[in-house]
Amino acid sequence: MQKYKGTFASEGLVMGPIYRPERQTMGLGRVVHGPSQERALFDAAVVLARDELRQLQQKAKGEQKDILHFQQALLEDRTLIDEVGDYIAVGADSAAAVERAASIFARTLKNVDDAYIRERSADVVDVCRRVVDILDGRPRGKLELTRPSILVADQVLPSDILSVEPGMLLGIVTSSGSAQSHASIIAGVMGIPAVVGLGSAFLDAAMDGATLLLDAEAGDVVLEPDEAVQEAVRRRLQKQQERAEEMDWLRGAPCHTKDGTAVRLFANCSGPQDIETAVELGADGVGLLRSEFLLMKGQFPDEEEQYRFYVDCLRAARGRLVTVRTFDIGADKLVDGLSEPEANPALGLRGVRFCLARPELFHTQLCALLRASAEGPLRVMFPMVGGVEDWREAMACVATARAALRTRGAAFDEQLLFGSMIEIPSAALTAGQIAAHGCGFFSIGTNDLVQYTHGADRLEPGVARYYREDSPAVRMLIGMTLEAGQKAGIPVCICGQTASDPALAADYVRQGLRILSITGNRLLKVKNELMNLDLAAEAAGAARPGFAQAGERP
Ligand code: PEP
Ligand code: MG
Repeated sequence: MQKYKGTFASEGLVMGPIYRPERQTMGLGRVVHGPSQERALFDAAVVLARDELRQLQQKAKGEQKDILHFQQALLEDRTLIDEVGDYIAVGADSAAAVERAASIFARTLKNVDDAYIRERSADVVDVCRRVVDILDGRPRGKLELTRPSILVADQVLPSDILSVEPGMLLGIVTSSGSAQSHASIIAGVMGIPAVVGLGSAFLDAAMDGATLLLDAEAGDVVLEPDEAVQEAVRRRLQKQQERAEEMDWLRGAPCHTKDGTAVRLFANCSGPQDIETAVELGADGVGLLRSEFLLMKGQFPDEEEQYRFYVDCLRAARGRLVTVRTFDIGADKLVDGLSEPEANPALGLRGVRFCLARPELFHTQLCALLRASAEGPLRVMFPMVGGVEDWREAMACVATARAALRTRGAAFDEQLLFGSMIEIPSAALTAGQIAAHGCGFFSIGTNDLVQYTHGADRLEPGVARYYREDSPAVRMLIGMTLEAGQKAGIPVCICGQTASDPALAADYVRQGLRILSITGNRLLKVKNELMNLDLAAEAAGAARPGFAQAGERP
């Protein structure tokens, strides 16, 4: 029995046999034709690959759809295509040219400072492998799992996960990779437990067919667990199953604490599919729609396309409130053709400031959102507002968009509510002023509020211990925002990842928050925690688990 520690990427506890995919390097027996013939073969393979991706995309959901879209866009990328063309022109066969260009292109992306772009190198490898497979005439690089197994590899690609029959992939463990990779995102969406970054020693030891225990949340991986450990896992799984069955009734139950305090649980989403899932899990609505994901699909939607997307989101929410955040471009969220390199992206031109610097982009989105407001309960908020100046500038753009729509005779809801994310300490400190200038609601983004309060980049593992989600400083800033909101009589929500942690969610409710927006698959867990919370009993000094009472010996 050997234990290893990695980084949590997708929740779950699972035990099963290891599956190690064979990553053959082809090349033997390839026949090289003349450059013009090789070029024609390559062009045809690209068309076929795009077609396959399009078909996969039609069956995919949510983030998977976006990734497949992104991979199609990669096959139109001039730098990649020209690189392949150059190798073919000097005599390489088309498959070898694709392999060569892919490795150079992926390496370049891997060395980019930005974590998001670095992760996209996996998509380059993935999509090029598809083209090479076509050129080599061998079947798709499908993972041939003959029994439910845990996939162990140096790195897992999105198409690896998507190629497996439902139920066959029990878990994913990789020696490299990161929790922000597309594969990790897909694993999360599909509910497949995953741990990344275990290192090469693990990969050397993990043999095909060996039994593996994967406790994702703890980042623990045990190779060949002994009988006692296996028995303990079986008991934990049995308990989890009973727990999940017990919690199922919570889907339809209104969320309130034991003493009857109502808490609204919204979901964080990126499009209609996530919204449908969240609604099925009982979400009261959407507290954060990250609209910038619309721009990361390799296309640039115009006003009409955006309008239709927002209306689709409203339909998916079936009458529940949808809170759309205007484009939060910048930092790790780069958009081709819009983003400029920055020395310190976390402190660069981000969020609403980016949009203010590109008024046409902002105007298009605001017009689309205003028009969608005529179709259902919508509200709109701005990301990365630093203070009242940003707020006023953004609202001036709203006034311009409203005027333009009136001139065009387009319908919109005159009462559409606009709010502000509170994710920079300066905004929390001046929340009262922002409210006094007409802000309709606050949504506290703890992911960024923590990084800016503690000066610790949220993507940088080296400063992870300084990224203190639950520090007194962060609590004070949340408290100030809440107080400012209460004084102004406007709603205050928390939509950062911290609200998806049941214990922190309960603490926020103790602090006075009554609206939380969380990751869809955490809805029942958080609701369960809150329904077991008794604010009245705690206030009356009754025992609160884990806390010694006044006068009581700890
Ligand atoms: C946040 O900062 O908490 C937030 C919700 O925004 P994002 O994670 O998209 O930056
Ligand atoms: Mg943020």
